[in-house]
Amino acid sequence: NVRNDLRNIAIIAHVDHGKTTLVDQLLQQSGTFRDNEQVQERAMDNNDLEKERGITILAKNTAVRFEDKLINILDTPGHADFGGEVERILKMVDGVLLVVDAFEGCMPQTRFVLKKALEQKLTPVVVVNKIDRPAARPDEVVDEVLDLFIELGADDNQLEFPIVYASAINGTASLNPEEQDENMKALFETIVESVPAPVDNGDEPFQFQVTMLDYNDYLGRIGIGRVFRGTLKRGDQASLVQPDGTVKNFRITKMFGFLGLKREEIEVARAGDLIAMSGVEDIMVGDTICPPSHIEALDAVRIDEPTLQMTFLVNNSPFAGREGDHVTSRKIEARLLTQVETDVSLRVEPTSSPDAWTVSGRGELHLSILIENLRREGYELQVSKPEVIIRNVDGAACEPYENVQVDVPEEYTGSVMESLGERKGEMQNMINKGDGQVRLEFLVPSRGLIGYTTEFMSQTKGYGILNHSYDSYRPLAQGYVGGRRQGVLVSMETGKATGYGMLQIEDRGTLFVEPGTDIYEGMIVGENTRDNDLTVNITKMKAQTNIRSATKEATVTMKRPRLLTLEEALEFCNEDEYCEVTPQSIRLRKKVL
Ligand code: GDP
Repeated sequence: NVRNDLRNIAIIAHVDHGKTTLVDQLLQQSGTFRDNEQVQERAMDNNDLEKERGITILAKNTAVRFEDKLINILDTPGHADFGGEVERILKMVDGVLLVVDAFEGCMPQTRFVLKKALEQKLTPVVVVNKIDRPAARPDEVVDEVLDLFIELGADDNQLEFPIVYASAINGTASLNPEEQDENMKALFETIVESVPAPVDNGDEPFQFQVTMLDYNDYLGRIGIGRVFRGTLKRGDQASLVQPDGTVKNFRITKMFGFLGLKREEIEVARAGDLIAMSGVEDIMVGDTICPPSHIEALDAVRIDEPTLQMTFLVNNSPFAGREGDHVTSRKIEARLLTQVETDVSLRVEPTSSPDAWTVSGRGELHLSILIENLRREGYELQVSKPEVIIRNVDGAACEPYENVQVDVPEEYTGSVMESLGERKGEMQNMINKGDGQVRLEFLVPSRGLIGYTTEFMSQTKGYGILNHSYDSYRPLAQGYVGGRRQGVLVSMETGKATGYGMLQIEDRGTLFVEPGTDIYEGMIVGENTRDNDLTVNITKMKAQTNIRSATKEATVTMKRPRLLTLEEALEFCNEDEYCEVTPQSIRLRKKVL
């Protein structure tokens, strides 16, 4: 017995490949959109931060109708820092829609989610989008997808994935790459035909598992998940079973289903439905809701533990022009606690100061996104350099390690190997793809990756692609982890600082400088105004413990000082400094005691 009126799918797409446009069209063509709705809100629209980062950060959900069927579409976050969340979202669905640009093909950012989806035996549907592009190369893109599926361990059924060629922008689709139909019916039909319908066991005792949280001031905490068995009715007595076995009884007062971009209150929810439930005290990801007469918890879900922590402080810097006050402090704390309501991998703990909190998260990206969001909402804060959370595992001090996968043009392999080596990375694998591209795989302490993206991008002139995902806690890496040191250049002519930057020591004792703060003295000997580069002769260097060697006279090329990105600031930050984060800028400041 199956619910033929329902399909649950997750969507996987690289930012810009047309996911939002596609879901919008599905909404419109299914009549789920009312005419005036589409103008105001686009389904799954990426926020600015997502566009800048090239990944989906926020999980969003939409439901579209096709004939007598409802199709729930869940968005998936696109980065390994959110691995637990991705797993939980995939647990709610029976199939995935992989949207790929017909010209660009599969991008590495989607690999991680796709791998999880294939591992969970979900049924894939491939949408080759933007088929209208003159440069579209659908056949090659399909071959690339097939290769990727094989590489990621797809089973035989998954390798026979259906392919729909679409032009989301025109609202058309077809099974034939040469010719588009008038609408997206082919896509609707393919989803309905290929993705398994949920099992209908509505007569059995109900089981609903919370896999995501939402929060609003009016309803409080909201648990979102899938009904795996039975039928829930408003007014029913229910038990909340926590993963540790604790049981709390309550009455179901509010349930919501999804339609279009909205949630609608419902009276009844049946096996297979994706629903939201509010009014349940302490509802948490992983909890199972079942009848008091039939207590049976579903398998635990993965919640990632934090691996990185930093201190958030009210910005009371003299540069802020005012003292941090009680109101500001309360506001920041309230904002952080709201975040904790929905973000299960985030911890916020008080410190001995009422103006400071220890904030722990999944990784640099997870915490950076929080900081960027706060900043965009108008908050001002100080944040410390992130530190990995050291744990005692079987009597040994351990730190988090990550798997790093790098795709680079051949000529950059040497420098990437060297810089990851300095960061205590161990190479696990090297594949020469034969097309001038090389894939390198490393195991690197998470510590060594803090701020590495910036260095990597400049090292590979923007051609490299880097993906990393948490591996495990392993014994502390010995010795210095990290590749670069900071420096300020002081002009010998004027005695004034001319810029500040990162110094990287290359073999010959040459210093390579990029934007970041210890004093070096040098003299500007050349200036390339077009590239904004300065060439500096280092004549005197302040004693620097982490510099291994340098000649007295070295040539330094540096970019002119500019505003730091958050990643740079977090990496360059020393123990005696903090990053001042305001809506206008991100700066490094010396700590004032
Ligand atoms: P998302 O980041 O994956 O949600 O992508 P969007 O839906 O925002 O689309 C990114 C860009 O691609 C936008 O400029 C769209 O207009 C464009 N786009 C989306 N679908 C198509 C398509 O089928 N053909 C063409 N030529 N452009 C498209």
